[in-house]
Amino acid sequence: MTRPAVAPSLRFWRFTVAQSGCLLWVGAVNGRGVPVFSVGQQEGKTKFMTAQRYAATLAGRELPEGSVVRTTCGNPLCVRAEHLVVEQRSAAKERS
Ligand SMILES: [Zn+2]
Repeated sequence: MTRPAVAPSLRFWRFTVAQSGCLLWVGAVNGRGVPVFSVGQQEGKTKFMTAQRYAATLAGRELPEGSVVRTTCGNPLCVRAEHLVVEQRSAAKERS
């Protein structure tokens, strides 16, 4: 018997607090101080994403392979979509 879990997209916002124009992550952070969010179970293991990546996904941003999401407001815990930019880790990827 498994209880239906709350959808991650709803659960996400429980870990955020609006402050000074930012939306601060008050959930888990990893050993490097990066906010992380568990998006669910996969093969018996909890799968994590950075909270910023997840916030960008919720905002409808595309996250191509090799992309990184960083904050433009300088607050490493901010997950406000307007303060997030998606960048390529390496700009060397060429398409022709
Ligand atoms: Zn911010």
